[in-house]
Amino acid sequence: MFIDKAKIVIQAGNGGNGCVSFHREKYVASGGPDGGDGGRGGDVIFVADDNLSTLADFRFRHKFAAQNGENGRSSNCTGRSGEDLVIRVPRGTLLTDPETGRVFADISSKEPVIVAHGGKGGAGNQHFATATRQIPRFAKPGTPGERFEIQMELKLLADVGLVGFPNVGKSTFISVVSGAKPKIANYHFTTLSPVLGVVSLGEGKSFVMADIPGLIEGASEGIGLGHEFLRHVDRCRVIVHIVDVSGSEGRDPIEDFQAINTELAKFSEELGSRPQIVVANKIDLADEEQIERFRSFVEEAGYAFFTMSAATTEGTRKLVEAIAQKLDTLPPILQYESDPSLYVKPEDGTDRSFEITVEHGVYYIDAPFLESILSVADMEDYESLQYFQRVLHTSGIYDKLEELGIEDGNTVDINGFQFEFIH
Ligand code: GDP
Ligand code: MG
Repeated sequence: MFIDKAKIVIQAGNGGNGCVSFHREKYVASGGPDGGDGGRGGDVIFVADDNLSTLADFRFRHKFAAQNGENGRSSNCTGRSGEDLVIRVPRGTLLTDPETGRVFADISSKEPVIVAHGGKGGAGNQHFATATRQIPRFAKPGTPGERFEIQMELKLLADVGLVGFPNVGKSTFISVVSGAKPKIANYHFTTLSPVLGVVSLGEGKSFVMADIPGLIEGASEGIGLGHEFLRHVDRCRVIVHIVDVSGSEGRDPIEDFQAINTELAKFSEELGSRPQIVVANKIDLADEEQIERFRSFVEEAGYAFFTMSAATTEGTRKLVEAIAQKLDTLPPILQYESDPSLYVKPEDGTDRSFEITVEHGVYYIDAPFLESILSVADMEDYESLQYFQRVLHTSGIYDKLEELGIEDGNTVDINGFQFEFIH
């Protein structure tokens, strides 16, 4: 079974928490703060692997997590960083957000891509000692690693996509003009997975051609094979549409031609208007009248028209040269740009949004980003409280409270932690 689509969840490692600790030594009454920083969480990295041609590895395994960073320790020891997780995928795998379709990354080049970033380690209390604050009883928590649901789709990187009904001679053509050796047989759907072939023209010139399995009518609605495979044509710069002009299977070449084009256009309008070269194959079995009837129809529709016999190789060289010429006039293979709006960088202080509701004179603050700070800081400690209040200032929560008319002595409640407001 050919697997070219998969949905997975990736989780980068969380940053380790900073440590609260004080130097202890014999005869030294109270040492300075020596809590180390948390280690950073590992990233989830994708890399293209040319030895892979399917996404079958992801059929049964859906969760992928990089290691968390370790917490900081006493004696100024920084926690160990979490290990990155490298996920290998076939070249041309597109990673998108399943809900919006926005692009995380297009794994097409040899550059590894960090898709989920590990969290940063929190600072240990060693950093919070100042002349006036000698006993800092707080440290910063690590930030969480990014977690994403990812839709993976293999979109082959080929200059040319061969399309056409089953048995028209696509596999025969690619096997005579390239090194690719697809299965060729006189029955439908012999090609179950796309086959890539490099067609060389000498002088270092070459292009990549993909043999896409047979498209059948209704393919774009998911009937039978085909629809699943249309995505592989998605990036092709030119479509080479092969038709059995001899009607050797009792079908009409013009009807075949129109049916396939309808399917392409249904898949996407853009695909329907992609540059297309039409090839009448099996001319060794066809008579002149059949060929001319088809030729005038295709040329009238505005397409370039070629004839060949893939079986005897007549006309194949001329076709290959015409394809190369056409490619010279076209832009390079489509690469998808990643959408930066998918990322809220850990450096951005995560999400600093908050909401304030006032009930019976109590100001309730709903601010998820404060939870982690509250969980680490010791609120009995005056210094910690001061630090916490600074966060309330820089995040704009104080301004908002004043805007709402808060007065000295009013109660502020953050997740059950209450304190009196003082200007
Ligand atoms: P595909 O399904 O489009 O890939 O078609 P194949 O390349 O597998 O070919 C289907 C059948 O048609 C095979 O038996 C081929 O040998 C035969 N065939 C392909 N091209 C030609 C041709 O130009 N002339 C003749 N007579 N037979 C051909
Ligand atoms: Mg085939």
